[in-house]
Amino acid sequence: MKQQRVALVTGGVGGIGTGICKRLAADNIFVVANFVVPGSEVAFESAMNNAGFGSDQFATIAGDVSQYDAAEEMVAQSVTKFGTIDVLVNCAGITRDASFRKMTLEHWRAVMATNLDSAFNVTKQVIEGMVAQEWGRIINISSVNGVKGAFGQTNYAAAKAGILGFTKSLALEVAKKGITVNAVSPGFIDTPMTKAMPDSARQAVVATIPSERMGVPDDIANAVAYLASEGASYVTGTNLSVNGGVHLYQ
Ligand code: NAP
Repeated sequence: MKQQRVALVTGGVGGIGTGICKRLAADNIFVVANFVVPGSEVAFESAMNNAGFGSDQFATIAGDVSQYDAAEEMVAQSVTKFGTIDVLVNCAGITRDASFRKMTLEHWRAVMATNLDSAFNVTKQVIEGMVAQEWGRIINISSVNGVKGAFGQTNYAAAKAGILGFTKSLALEVAKKGITVNAVSPGFIDTPMTKAMPDSARQAVVATIPSERMGVPDDIANAVAYLASEGASYVTGTNLSVNGGVHLYQ
């Protein structure tokens, strides 16, 4: 077995991504955190350093995963520098909320490209390496809203539901190669994505959560760490809901 596994986390410098990177690094996995906006890696690097992780435990890499060529280049650079990717976490995502009648083609395409095309664009680059070594973990970050729908999110819910179909289908194809493919569907998690909502809207959502609190990135990171672990080798094609019990009302 290799000394240290390598994980690529797309959107790894974001709210949930940072939690995932810290958790995987704590599990002795070398983490490569992807980002797109120049400079957004700075706060991430400080957060990792403050948590006690050094350059032998993590790195950052730029690349727009919504674009196939950019994703190909980003993964090639990562493999050259850090070796084969053992664990892929497809976590990059954006929202462009609007009721369907007000939604523009630009809103639709941006969300589909970043939240759904990205899973194809990046997974396509890593799958052959995983097949060759007969070991791999692919974890796709979907959303409770991909399961239940959400007002103002026809684009986002469609992309996240697409992630679930992608996950199950790919899981079937590669199960015999020692590769697991699973989804994690966060509920309402306290990150920059949800901080963008007005306070009144945030409070209204919290009122619907049986646990009576927003989730935190660690809640999602713990689920991802389990699915990335050696012990999860018989878990594939599943969707792990981490949402404080929201689905209990469905
Ligand atoms: P976030 O803090 O806004 O982080 C999103 C990350 O995605 C950022 O690091 C961003 O990079 C990256 N990203 C966006 N577009 C990209 C692109 N084209 N190429 C590469 N990276 C890109 O959001 P979050 O709350 O952590 O969300 C992480 C994931 O969880 C998303 O897939 C989201 O849909 C999902 N999720 C979140 C919640 C929630 O309540 N927060 C609930 C359900 C699902 P830059 O920093 O460089 O912009």
